[in-house]
Amino acid sequence: MKYAVDERGYYGNFGGAYIPEMLYPAVEELRQQYLNIIYDPSFQEEFNNLLRDYVGRPTPLYLAKRLSEKFGAKIYLKREDLAHTGAHKINNTIGQILLAKRMGKTRIIAETGAGQHGVATATVCALVGLECVVYMGKIDTERQKPNVSRMQLLGATVVPVTSGSQTLKDATNEAIRDWISNPVDTHYIIGSVVGPHPYPDMVARFQAIISEEIKAQLLEKEGTDKPDYVVACVGGGSNAAGAYYHFLDEEEVNLIAVEAAGHGIDTGFSAATSVLGTLGIIHGSKTLLMQTEDGQIVEPHSISAGLDYPGIGPLHAHLIESGRAKVYSVTDDEAMEALVMCSRMEGIIPAIESSHALYALNKMELKPTDVVVLNLSGRGDKDLATIINYLDNIDVPHGK
Ligand SMILES: *Cc1c(COP(=O)(O)O)cnc(C)c1O
Repeated sequence: MKYAVDERGYYGNFGGAYIPEMLYPAVEELRQQYLNIIYDPSFQEEFNNLLRDYVGRPTPLYLAKRLSEKFGAKIYLKREDLAHTGAHKINNTIGQILLAKRMGKTRIIAETGAGQHGVATATVCALVGLECVVYMGKIDTERQKPNVSRMQLLGATVVPVTSGSQTLKDATNEAIRDWISNPVDTHYIIGSVVGPHPYPDMVARFQAIISEEIKAQLLEKEGTDKPDYVVACVGGGSNAAGAYYHFLDEEEVNLIAVEAAGHGIDTGFSAATSVLGTLGIIHGSKTLLMQTEDGQIVEPHSISAGLDYPGIGPLHAHLIESGRAKVYSVTDDEAMEALVMCSRMEGIIPAIESSHALYALNKMELKPTDVVVLNLSGRGDKDLATIINYLDNIDVPHGK
């Protein structure tokens, strides 16, 4: 496993656990226990049963005929948009809630930006009956009211955070503060392959179900379990990590990471971390992040809430630095063009995040024999207000 995390929690030069002293016992407890717990046969049985009966797995691997014709290659969509709650995030929150229960935790905390991870966390807390507190920047609670209502309906307490810029990074700081005060009874559910070791590795293992299914489904449909390309969008990197996981050491499978260029890489309004990022520490992990010369985090921009993150998980920093994964940057406008294309050509309204991955098909040089698997990380319902607002402003006729 050339690209697996090492014993110290690093992927090449990236990763580790850069945490305040007072968090050390909680993170260390997790580090010592996570592998034993998640590979216990009874855990695996409970996890897999819930993925099947509650999440609705396996999600289909769908051969998109019209997209295939358009791009001149076989394009398969891995339909994470059909998972319960509308995206891949639930795979990870189910895994972590079962882990938390087995570690004897009675209280769950999470941070959320746009609210998607908060909703996925509130969902699984309701499922097992654990107390749930979600920290969310006050500005985000106002921008994302429907998700605040969803979390409350699911029984979670949403705490609006009024410090700093009142957005995701402040919510994260508040969640960390909570965990420091309640290390014994509380588990902190992180939503992507970010944070201190062992989170990136743990979350990747929970999301690995995506590539496990792709292999079996492709073998049945194509007679081989190896596609030529696996394409996924990258915010923190969890859906991509899951889609890549079982292909990491199969170097004939090309891994394509698609990040958000916002208004354009050089405009000062982007989230193109692999191009603009430099080595630094964010959320307890050493990785690529967008920062000023004196180490202040630069506010990212993307039209998609899920890709609007100033860093990238350490696994992806390593895959990109080593050349194992190739990156494309896709702008807001390009992603919205792909969103409309997929809606009209396949009858599938993708999440704006996933639409970044779809647009990358234009940038790849594909041959008719190529088999491409594109991870459709989520559905676009959550983005409807943003989509309508965007289309109104650029004057594209919605119904022709
Ligand atoms: C949150 C989210 C993402 C980005 O997160 P990753 O950890 O990079 O996968 C992508 N797509 C959807 C639909 C999301 O909700």
